Amino acid sequence: MNVLLLGPQGSGKGTQAKRIEAEYGIPHIATGDMLRAAIEEGTELGERVKPILESGQLVPDELMIDLIRERLGQPDAERGFILDGFPRTSPQADALDEMLDDIGRRLSIVFEFQLPDDIARERLVRRAELEGRPDDTPDVIDRRLELYHELTEPLVEHYRLQGNLIGIHGDRPVKEVFAEIQQALEQAAARS
Ligand code: ADP
Repeated sequence: MNVLLLGPQGSGKGTQAKRIEAEYGIPHIATGDMLRAAIEEGTELGERVKPILESGQLVPDELMIDLIRERLGQPDAERGFILDGFPRTSPQADALDEMLDDIGRRLSIVFEFQLPDDIARERLVRRAELEGRPDDTPDVIDRRLELYHELTEPLVEHYRLQGNLIGIHGDRPVKEVFAEIQQALEQAAARS
């Protein structure tokens, strides 16, 4: 099962991805987590992307595409994956289509999490208090949401045309959202 999660910051992608990972045994590939790990380890990549993450800008497409190509090639992704945070731009989406074509795979399902910006902002401010992420400050939150609407949201149309897009209302209890996801995943599995 190859799953893609799209949706604004704070819409619950990471929370649901962890549940899908636990239930179906496929890895949660979260680009933000990968980049933060690189920063933590002080690798060359980490040094390069640190200021970008802190300011809420996007890491260059080529860098992200290489990172994902390498990650999807690892053995644990053979049975499937949950992509969270990639693609975020149209060149990234085209690159992903190509990568999947090359290995003869396709996305089983794409979930679009929907959440109004004001609720997203509230959630992120709360998360900032709990986790202390340096990019969860009001200005940077606004920049990230803006970039989401400008560059990432248009990808919804890309996947709608591919015919495997499911909309999810993110402003509901975690359990309810997960039940809906599970139902959709089971239907997708039955189709394939
Ligand atoms: P959020 O969705 O809350 O912004 P993430 O943890 O997904 O958080 O990403 C954190 C940051 O990592 C982004 O603001 C961006 O700088 C960088 N990043 C993650 N994924 C990508 C990507 N696919 N393309 C470009 N930059 C990315």
